[in-house]
Formats: sequence, C-alpha cells, structure tokens
Amino acid sequence: MRAKDTNSLLIVGTGAMACLFAARFSSASYRVTMLGTWKEGLQALRENGVVIVDSDGNERSYPVQVADCAQACKGSRFALVLVKSWQTQRAAQQLAKCLSARGLALTLQNGLGNLELLARFLGSQRVALGVTTTGATLLGPGKVRPGGEGAISLIGHPHLAPIAKMFSKAGFTVETAPDAMALLWGKLVINAAINPITALLGISNGELLSREKARALLQETAREASAVAEAQGICLPYPDPVVAVESTASRTANNRSSMLQDVQRGAPTEIDAICGAIVRAGEKTGVKTPINRTLFHLIKALYPTEWNEPAKTGLEVTSGCRMNVVTSLADLRAARAQLTGPVGFVPTMGYLHEGHLSLVRAAKSNCNTVVVSIFVNPTQFSPNEDLSNYPRDLKRDLSMLEKEGVDLVWTPTPEIMYPPGYQTWISVEEVTSMLEGSIRSGHFRGVATVVGKLFNAVRPDKAYFGQKDAQQAVVIRRMTQDLNFNIEIVVCPTIREQDGLAMSSRNVYLNPSERQAASVLHRALVKAQVAYSDGEHDAERLRQIVNETVQSEPLAHLQYVSCTHPDTLRELEGQIPTHALLSMAVHVGKTRLIDNVVIGGQ
Ligand code: AMP
Repeated sequence: MRAKDTNSLLIVGTGAMACLFAARFSSASYRVTMLGTWKEGLQALRENGVVIVDSDGNERSYPVQVADCAQACKGSRFALVLVKSWQTQRAAQQLAKCLSARGLALTLQNGLGNLELLARFLGSQRVALGVTTTGATLLGPGKVRPGGEGAISLIGHPHLAPIAKMFSKAGFTVETAPDAMALLWGKLVINAAINPITALLGISNGELLSREKARALLQETAREASAVAEAQGICLPYPDPVVAVESTASRTANNRSSMLQDVQRGAPTEIDAICGAIVRAGEKTGVKTPINRTLFHLIKALYPTEWNEPAKTGLEVTSGCRMNVVTSLADLRAARAQLTGPVGFVPTMGYLHEGHLSLVRAAKSNCNTVVVSIFVNPTQFSPNEDLSNYPRDLKRDLSMLEKEGVDLVWTPTPEIMYPPGYQTWISVEEVTSMLEGSIRSGHFRGVATVVGKLFNAVRPDKAYFGQKDAQQAVVIRRMTQDLNFNIEIVVCPTIREQDGLAMSSRNVYLNPSERQAASVLHRALVKAQVAYSDGEHDAERLRQIVNETVQSEPLAHLQYVSCTHPDTLRELEGQIPTHALLSMAVHVGKTRLIDNVVIGGQ
C-alpha cells in the first residue's frame, strides 16, 4: 500500500456534514479532497478551506483540496459519501470514475437506499455503510458550525479497517455494529422525529425539546416510526426510541435541520428517503403512519407550487431503486442534474413494446445515461380521437424500462405539462401540411409543443425517435433546427411483428381477424419495394400498387398513400429522383394504422 493511500481521503459533498468531516480529517493531517457540484461551495472551499465557527463565533480554517469533476480525483482509495440522499446517484456515478479498483466508499448519509444505489455503480465490495449522529449546521458556503458530537457506527466490511483507523486518528469515537438495518432504522427514526418538525417550525433541535407541543409531536413520530421498524423485525439499537431521539436532540441542541435551508435554496429535501421511506415500509407491513405521512406532505408543501406533484407519486418514489421515477418538474430537474452526459432521451406515450425498447437500447449504446418520458399528450389528439381509451399500463412500462437499465423515467401529468392559463404553442409549418397533418388537424402542433417542452425540461444531448412515425421525425428535426435546440435527433428503424405489422401501442385495439388483416400494410409496402427494385420508379404507379394491395383485404380501408420526398414530404410525380418515402394510413375496423418505407437511394 502506498503511503498516499492512507493519508488521503476523498469527501463527496460540500454540505454541512461534508465540511465538518473534512475539517476534522484535515486537522489530523490527512490530505482531504472535497468533490462536489455546488459552485459557490467549491469556490469558498478553494479560497478559504473549510471554516469552522465555534459557539463563541470564533472562526478557524482548515485547508482542503477541491475537485469539481471525478477525473480530478482519479485513483482515490478512500471516499466518504456525505451528499443528500437525492444526490446519491450522481455521487455514485462520479465515484465509479474515480475510486480505485481496490478502493472503498463509506456512506454516512441519512435515509434508506443509499448503500444499494452506491453498490449498483461500484459493486458491493467497494461500498461500506456507517451511521453518525454527529450534527452540523451550514452557515454559508464552506462555513459550518459543529452541532454536537456523536459516535460513528460502522457495519463490518472486509476492507474497513484502514478507514476505521483514520476516523480514530481524527478523534472520532468509532464502533462496529453487527446489523445494518438496525443501524439505518435507528438513525431513520431520529431523523424522522427531528428534521421535518424543526424545519417546519424553523427552530433548532434544542427548541424542539423546550416547546411542549412540538416535543409531543417528536415523541409520537418516533413511536410511529419505531413501530414500523418493529413490524419488519428490526431491533432498534436503543431500548426506547423517544429517549434516543430526545437525547440526540439535546446533544445537538444548537443544530438546525438543513431541510428548510434546502427548500429555501431551491433544492429538494431528504423527506422522500426519511418520512417517505417510513410511510412506504408502513404500507408494506400494514402499520399506519399518519404522522410521518403528514410530515411528508407538509415538507412537500414547502416546495414551490410548480414542484408539487400528486401525493401518491411522491410517496412512491423509492429512494435507492435502480431506476429513478419522477413526476414533478422539480424532481425531474433535480434528478436530471445528477445524470452524467451524454444523456439520451426517448419520449413515449407509454404502453411500451419492442419498438420503444429498440429506441432505449439505441440510446443506451450511445449515451452514458438514458431518460424516458411517459406522457399521453392530450394536445396531439383531436376530440374524435382515442385519448381516453389510449392504452396505459405504467407498472408494466416501468418494469420493462428498469430491465433495460434506464436511469430516469419522467411521468408528468397533463396538469404539470399544461397548467391553467397555458397558451404557448410550437407550430411547424410546411412539413405538417400534408400526410398525417392534413388529416389529423392540430396533431403536429401538439407533438411539436410537447416535444419542445420535454426537450427543455430533460435537456438531452441526443433524442431517439422511430421511423415508424416518419412525418413526426421530420417535424421534430425541423423544429430542433429552427428553434436551435442543441440536441442530436436519431431516427431508428421500424420494429415489426413476425408478419410485418409495425409494432404500435394501438395494435391492442385489433380483434383477431383485424389483427390478421393488418399485415396488409406491410405486404403492400413490400410489394411496392419489390416493384421499385424491378425497375418501376414511377411514383404514381407505386402508389397504385399499395392501393390495389390494400383493396384486396376486405377489412382494410386505405385513407391515403403517399410517395413523397423523404425530407420535404412534397408529393412526387413521375420518376422518383433518388429516394422516396412511401407512407400510408389504413383503417382496419375502427383502428387507424400507419406505416411507411423509404425506397431507393440507400
Ligand atoms: P409513442 O409512444 O407511440 O408516442 O412512440 C414513442 C416513440 O417510439 C416514437 O418515436 C415512435 O416513432 C417510436 N415507435 C413507435 N413504434 C415503433 C416501432 N414499431 N418501431 C420503432 N419505433 C417505434
């Protein structure tokens, strides 16, 4: 082991606890590097080191190195993860780039799920769990007031000894605990009973104890949370939860929960990973959790209005699950901020099939992270179309996306996308005047608007669309270029069933005989393609071939067939110059199907 290995420590995070630990290790002569993304925090740390303010207001500075990207800390042997639970994924992605192969990252974070998320990126061999009840309050960027000493409890891990030694050398009391769940829930109960109440009342931990009603609420919250732990067979690391919470509050009397600070500076809080986690566990074990649920909602009520999401979804966000699923715009933005680029984006209306998954796979193979949106966009349906019947199965969609290794799924509601008073539209002109646009009035205005909004929120580097909706791809390309979106549009081939029917969410509407008849679309296109290969290059003749083939199928009714320039979508007459888009819409029973092929040129 090189000398550098045991003298250096990487701290991921720049918040109160990260600063406090950095100062302690720095004062024990460790070479501390702090890795973060908060610009003001990094700037202050770079200029002044960590500034510790004691109870008399005296300041003392401790030197640290500062890194704003993982590359700058490549080869780190020991890392302490001290970011908020909603930033864990980003921390994990950074650590995956800079932690050495034999390195170890120790999480000392609040909430459930952090260990699992880190292990997903680093492998369980390189991740260890600890809990601390040390407190700290951030007074400003890089400036922290210690908020009460607490022990560091570590869960046994084969590579933990050197890091435990570092803690002891830095003056911490270190214990080894046998049971991770007991340790995590022990801290969770304390966090649930102290953090949201002090944040909501804007008081310190000490004041929480001196206010009779607030203290009673603390006690009830602790009892409720510990009942959930007990129902799961978890034996908390203290005999009486109320005594444990009150003694922590008393020991950290000057401390203030950062939840309120978080909201005030426009960031999410850890409420999902604390009270949210308790409510979810309560639902699974049949323990009622009205107080934790109320605290969850009250903290969410502090968020700006546009952050607010349907309560149910908020509770469903499982911190630490492999794939992050968010509904509100604020949660999307926070989660997006954690993704490393290039970011690939696949917008969908859900009810996913292999066609959608082919786009996801293309995005996965070209991008570092992948975002999928699921939103049945009402503004692209006209009143006589199938908006209310459009097939939906979110649970199934999410499980399919999780299997594909998607990082983030956004499931906004119509109210989030089009709040009351909404009145801004994107209208792409020429290329929407024909084909689908001439029949589905307003359709592309809805499509361009929603995709523009999705692009603005997700800010992808690349966005993936299917050739199946050929005109849509042309419209999106045009809009992307005209509105200067800095996004590469990738169009992927149409995925088909065995008999050639293009996969579509709407295929479920077909009854068995219609389903059989529906293969006629592909048969007609193939016939035209074969004719083209045999030398028939006349656009009108190719349209006729499609028309005749569809007419041969009694259940199918051709709405239009078009042979156009693939980019301008202008109808071609006479000989096809180089290549053409042969596209069609057909009613099979009540179901409207579209399909296309590009002929020639390729
Ligand atoms: P939708 O959910 O129908 O809005 O489709 C979302 C995306 O998937 C669009 O870019 C579609 O063009 C694409 N897509 C739909 N069906 C297929 C398919 N069979 N093959 C390839 N891409 C498809």
